[in-house]
Amino acid sequence: MAEKRESTARLVASLTRLWDDVVAASALTGDDDEHDPEGQTVAFERAQLRDTLKQARGDLEALDRAASRVAGGEYWVCERCGGPIAAARLAARPTATCCIDCAGLPAR
Ligand SMILES: [Zn+2]
Repeated sequence: MAEKRESTARLVASLTRLWDDVVAASALTGDDDEHDPEGQTVAFERAQLRDTLKQARGDLEALDRAASRVAGGEYWVCERCGGPIAAARLAARPTATCCIDCAGLPAR
């Protein structure tokens, strides 16, 4: 768990750095995306990078939440029904906060 959190933190850091590079590069090429074929590629890469970064940050938040649940002794407890979360479920999805039964219910 700690290892996964660390690697996700590293991923976010490197993506943020990459993001800064892309923003800097696109600032250099200007905002003329519509007329510059190169500019369109930058815009596309920027959009993809933004999605990846958003995903990685979401993972990091989920891992932080899981870590605090571990610390609070609630890691194995379903947030919705208070029942136990199966070990197999947590093995497959370490950031799960509810049991398999509650996971199938519509979101509140
Ligand atoms: Zn439950």
